[in-house]
Amino acid sequence: MDAYGAPVIGEHGRWLGIVVVMHDITELIKLEQIRKDFVANVSHELKTPVTSIKGFSETLLFGAYKNEETLLSFLEIIHKESNRLQMLINDLLDLSKVEQVGYEVSLKKVRLTDILERGLEMTSHLVEEKNMEIETTVDDSVHVLGDMNRLIQIMMNLLANAITYSPENTTVHVNIFKNEQYGIFQIQDEGIGISKSEINRIFERFYRVDRARSRNSGGTGLGLAIVKHLVEAHHGLIKVESEVGEGTTFTVYIPIAKS
Ligand code: ADP
Repeated sequence: MDAYGAPVIGEHGRWLGIVVVMHDITELIKLEQIRKDFVANVSHELKTPVTSIKGFSETLLFGAYKNEETLLSFLEIIHKESNRLQMLINDLLDLSKVEQVGYEVSLKKVRLTDILERGLEMTSHLVEEKNMEIETTVDDSVHVLGDMNRLIQIMMNLLANAITYSPENTTVHVNIFKNEQYGIFQIQDEGIGISKSEINRIFERFYRVDRARSRNSGGTGLGLAIVKHLVEAHHGLIKVESEVGEGTTFTVYIPIAKS
């Protein structure tokens, strides 16, 4: 609590009382803490690949380049870590864009099955790597009001997560349907699931249930934070249900495009 007081003086200097103004600054302190945590997280996430790139390139420069095998394996690490840096920077820039007050997407009539088709193309290499199946049940007539590229981004992120957080040889089910108000797509996996205590936090920036697993699969921990903002920019909703060891279902509701 933050308070200021000032005396109130009437005619002839008569003392009438005191005006006290109180501000509840709990919310401000909380926001400041979130900001500090974010800066600390960004610094940490950037530092890890930079340290690695610097270390391996220095070792090469000091002579390790003479051994062809070492040269190749160190270059591969440097390349992988630079890719990681690039992904992180792209996600950070995108997040700061979609988080801005007043951020808007351009709304056009889009068919949800077209979005799914592009999402599947973009994740097909992951599906193949893990020998997974994608099973779809779709209503081809569902059109929503949305930004094509941003909807593809939402779909792709959720599909990639469903694949990443599932064991090999499992199936991801995608359903597309509608109700009066929304076009709906649902991505259901048979993966590791998310516990009740963590499920409310997964849309937070940099929150990861299993940091190592996310990092190994190239995750930045920003995907769902971006997805949530994008869904909200479409005046939509995103819901998640999960059972540890059984799987997770993300359901996205986007306002329907009539006629
Ligand atoms: P990441 O880049 O780490 O995947 P996201 O923001 O996309 O970041 O997701 C945040 C975290 O939520 C992930 O690290 C993971 O722990 C959890 N998560 C997301 N999708 C799933 C899923 N389908 N099944 C289990 N856990 C998931």
